[in-house]
Amino acid sequence: MKETDSFFVDQICPVCKTSLHTKVFSINHRQSQVLDMLGATVKEPYADIVKCKECQHNYMTPIISDEKLTHYYSKINSEFYANPKPEVGNINEKEYADYTKLIQTKCKTGKVLEIGCGKGYLLKTLQDNGFECYGVEPSPFAAGFAKETLNLQVENCFLHESSFFNMKFDVVVMIDVVEHISNMQRFMQQVSSVLKPGAIIFIGTGNIDSFNARFAGSNWGYFVSWEHVSFFNLKSMRALLTNFNYTDIEIRKTSLQHRPVKNTVEFIKNVAKKAINPFVKRKFYHGICYDHMIVMAKHKG
Ligand SMILES: [Zn+2]
Repeated sequence: MKETDSFFVDQICPVCKTSLHTKVFSINHRQSQVLDMLGATVKEPYADIVKCKECQHNYMTPIISDEKLTHYYSKINSEFYANPKPEVGNINEKEYADYTKLIQTKCKTGKVLEIGCGKGYLLKTLQDNGFECYGVEPSPFAAGFAKETLNLQVENCFLHESSFFNMKFDVVVMIDVVEHISNMQRFMQQVSSVLKPGAIIFIGTGNIDSFNARFAGSNWGYFVSWEHVSFFNLKSMRALLTNFNYTDIEIRKTSLQHRPVKNTVEFIKNVAKKAINPFVKRKFYHGICYDHMIVMAKHKG
């Protein structure tokens, strides 16, 4: 790692806050746009993925400082929204319908808050199914779409800055959010503070111990960006939720988009890609191939 200023900070374990770890491998962030968008000059954009000796959680170190990332998310836009393509509607329709059904097995009605709701398609699905929906989203582009195009109650800010922060919810949803969070202790305290006793937390994130992630190694799709700093497995997810007083923890191994045929085709393509490496240009293995987890748990209050 060579950088021109103090852009980077070493990270300790986001789950248990200890620092003893073993290095898993280095990852190359050449394809990530974050440094360019922040105007940083880094000749060799490498970071390490390490595994915590205490709780087995995996995380990246060094990471871009919290201050720089906060500025980036809220003032510039996530790189995932940096070059918006023509709007194609809700490409995750099946996935979001499945999430809605899962949530309904725990809670039929009430107030839902989605943290990092993006353009709002999941929130809209939940609203169409009778939930009273609220969302927070730091990206100005995505929050604007959710508010203006989908007419949702979404605020363009982080949770603790939101007017929803003093409300209490029956369900809090966060899909592809926790891998962005370096200070999980602070984040989980904020999340837990807006849940009613007995309310449901619903989390979607990558599973670093999944077969596809192990198969892809340092080319796993979740390693594509400087934005992703924390990589859960089933053990570290359970440890986190137990530490924060959650019970009835259910974890399902899934794929993004919830389309078995497409997911299998992508996995076969990954196998082919791996077979012909290193003769092809380095490519990331998609995160839609059975390497996601969906987590539901109840907040004891
Ligand atoms: Zn740990």
